[in-house]
Amino acid sequence: ESGYSVTPWEARGKIDYDKLIEEFGVEKLGPELVERIGRLAGGLHWLLRRGFFFAHRDLGLVLDDYEAGRGFFLYTGRAPSNSPMHIAHIVPFVATRWLQEKFNVNVYIEIPDEEKFLAKKVESLDEVEPYVRQDILNIAALGFDPDRTFIFRDTEYISRMYRAAVRVARLINFSTAKAVFGFDGETSIGLIFYPALQIVPTLFENKRPLIPCGIDQDPYFRLQRDIAPRLGRYKTAEILSKLVWGLTGPETKMSASQPETAILLNDPPDVVKKKIMNAYTGGRATIEEQRKLGGVPEVCTVFHWYSVLFEEDDKKLEERYWACKTGKLMCGECKLELVQRINRFLEQHRANVKRAEEKLHLYMYDGKL
Ligand code: SF4
Repeated sequence: ESGYSVTPWEARGKIDYDKLIEEFGVEKLGPELVERIGRLAGGLHWLLRRGFFFAHRDLGLVLDDYEAGRGFFLYTGRAPSNSPMHIAHIVPFVATRWLQEKFNVNVYIEIPDEEKFLAKKVESLDEVEPYVRQDILNIAALGFDPDRTFIFRDTEYISRMYRAAVRVARLINFSTAKAVFGFDGETSIGLIFYPALQIVPTLFENKRPLIPCGIDQDPYFRLQRDIAPRLGRYKTAEILSKLVWGLTGPETKMSASQPETAILLNDPPDVVKKKIMNAYTGGRATIEEQRKLGGVPEVCTVFHWYSVLFEEDDKKLEERYWACKTGKLMCGECKLELVQRINRFLEQHRANVKRAEEKLHLYMYDGKL
């Protein structure tokens, strides 16, 4: 099935994504292009079917390249911090893995283990260290193909990146970088150089790089698009997603430092339960009221997470939407079911992490962590 529709049952907040498309100067990801992906991939991931990926740059050219046999490659990353990953972090990787499988392409995953330190978000490199390995395993465990996946951490792989980084860095003036990233007098000079390292992997192959990411990441790659032609390389293409919600309300963020907002990948079952039972919903004040008026799934973080990761079946998601709307479904039951699904997912994920651990060296670009 490659059917795409803007459904009435998607979770909606206040962000005007059409306006963002204009502001960022990106293209809308409409039915035509989505259906073309579906035809080439032999089906569509639900994140594409449901319009969660809503904008792009040059995606049509990526598909042209694919059809003409020139191919393309995927590039993404994750900056380790001093806390574990949460379920919001894995959403772009789930989409990236799907694209890898369907188009049989290489994926490069940068682990900028210096970024949080340079950005002064952590006090030492050692603080981040335990999470580097954990994050890499969490990503690999999502099912990436070890033969086509190349993970590298900046502090280890730097000698292979530095020559390219120097070429990139010379082409970006401070005034441009300042305008894009908002650097100020307190910014460390390390962070000013850092965007060069984020751009380097887009040059790893002489093919078009495709980056699946949240629209907030677009500015980084706009810089790449400015300079790529001068390096004789392709401009990066992007497939851009909406923001996933934290548990405290529509369009809030998951943050590991505010535990009530996020489900961490290492949360035990009782913690998951507590967090979901306290999550912000579109439920009414009393059961009577909910029976009479129905709930508001459009603003419900529980419904949001069903739609993003925990209900693959469009028909079942739609049924849940209407059961909520018409007052047939109560929040307690709806939340408990989500708790079960998340816990089942996390249990499976932990088993996958163990398996990934055994072949970690196969995922690393040069075999080393
Ligand atoms: Fe949200 Fe479910 Fe309650 Fe509806 S019934 S508001 S979808 S938790």
